[in-house]
Amino acid sequence: MDQTARVRQDLYNSEINCTIASFWDAGFRVLLGDDLHGFVAETRVRTFVDAVQWLANAAVTHYPESAAMTISCTTCDDTGWVCENHLDRPWDGPRACSCGGAGAPCPACNVPAEGEAAPMPEGFRVEIDKDGWRH
Ligand SMILES: [Zn+2]
Ligand SMILES: [Zn+2]
Repeated sequence: MDQTARVRQDLYNSEINCTIASFWDAGFRVLLGDDLHGFVAETRVRTFVDAVQWLANAAVTHYPESAAMTISCTTCDDTGWVCENHLDRPWDGPRACSCGGAGAPCPACNVPAEGEAAPMPEGFRVEIDKDGWRH
């Protein structure tokens, strides 16, 4: 399953309803909600990827209590770590980058405070030298 499909699946699993309608020449109309309960948010974007991204963000904004809404960071799949060579791909988990590069803190959700090392993921394999995280 690719990332956009996965976000929609997550929304569905969370019982969050959404509609992505495409209008030729007008991009995509994206609606969060459903006919029964009303739509809580709506936008118009140019690409399908933008539509899914907007939905993921809108779902978190409008349904923060939805416990099943598991993925809040689609950059690292909430692992907190991305591939050092490909900063938009998770370093761990089912979609982990296969290039063999080292892990790096996710630039979207795991930015360490100044002078602090990012928290280590479980099973962290890369050795950090005594001087701490390199900059
Ligand atoms: Zn990589
Ligand atoms: Zn992240």
